[in-house]
Amino acid sequence: MLSALQRSLGVHRVLEPIGVLPQAARRLDPDPQLGPDEVRIAVRRLNLDAASYRQLSEAHAGDGAAVRAAVLGIVESRGKMHNPVTGSGGMLIGVVDEVGPESPLGLEPGQRVATLVSLTLTPLQITDGLAGWDGRSEQVPATGTAVLFSRSIAAVLPDDLPEEVALAVLDVCGAPAATERVVHRSGHRPSVAVLGAAGKSGCLSLAAARDARAGRLTGVVRDGREADALRAAGLADVVVVADATDPLAVAEAVGEPVDVTVVCVDVPGAEHGAVLATADGGTVVFFSMATSFSAAALGAEGMAADVTMLVGNGYTPGHAALAMDLYRRSPGVRSLIDPRVRA
Ligand code: NAP
Repeated sequence: MLSALQRSLGVHRVLEPIGVLPQAARRLDPDPQLGPDEVRIAVRRLNLDAASYRQLSEAHAGDGAAVRAAVLGIVESRGKMHNPVTGSGGMLIGVVDEVGPESPLGLEPGQRVATLVSLTLTPLQITDGLAGWDGRSEQVPATGTAVLFSRSIAAVLPDDLPEEVALAVLDVCGAPAATERVVHRSGHRPSVAVLGAAGKSGCLSLAAARDARAGRLTGVVRDGREADALRAAGLADVVVVADATDPLAVAEAVGEPVDVTVVCVDVPGAEHGAVLATADGGTVVFFSMATSFSAAALGAEGMAADVTMLVGNGYTPGHAALAMDLYRRSPGVRSLIDPRVRA
């Protein structure tokens, strides 16, 4: 017999290995039949986490049909979209289909919602073979069902934003919230560098740092095209080009080490550059799902760097509203996010 806590976390849906939490499970039961405390979502669109999509796309040399087959294979075998290589998922939007009588989430049938819990722990069934997706974008039109537990979180979608924009912004809404919190806690106007600053989480983090009254803002981007876009967006005081996976290049490009570094790239190997770019006593926020804990910890030790390193928690109270607000208020954020999500 499972405890109320176990049920609220979805342990009853774990098929393998029995007893672990859904995020750690190899396989979940995605049966659309609901328990009394669950909610069923009719899925409309998945947003694959950027690190997961990049890994799948690179593993299949950009062959869209093969990427689609890989995603279908993962969901079929695991009962959730949990990339076994990156360990990451994403999130989804859909319409509330049925609400169990004991669900505490306050949702009602017919509401359009985004799930703010990871796809790595969300029971998911796909019923259309992802026929509407060419395998060439993070956003995946999909038909199927997903299940929320009583401790899951979901946001009702705003009416004023297109679904694909809301999905993209909500997927990374933990990044600006984490940045705001760290800037507030870092004392007087800390300098901030963002790696991957022209990406979705990167530009939102810059905007959040500005709002939180950070000092000098440095955006580190991959190439000249991204540098031009970020300069035009006006979100950073300084824009520099460096390969985030080249530690010395990052340190040289950032120059005077900063108080706070936020890692928003979607590739592995950014740990050492982020540590080198950060002043002693400073903080690195690793929002990227491609981060290696051991590379970060051992790299900092090896460089005798006295920095605090934070795992970018995808959840902070109020994170969804904060990110939506930044998107609505900042033309610079919109200029960087819209081309990534709106064809
Ligand atoms: P995104 O929009 O694709 O942005 C990533 C940015 O990094 C892009 O501008 C990309 O440039 C740039 N980049 C890639 N390789 C680089 C390199 N070697 N040097 C410099 N820049 C480089 O991704 P996102 O949606 O913001 O996601 C960013 C990260 O957050 C991902 O790792 C994702 O997994 C993670 N994430 C974490 C959470 C959480 O809860 N912690 C939730 C969601 C997502 P190009 O576009 O030119 O490649």
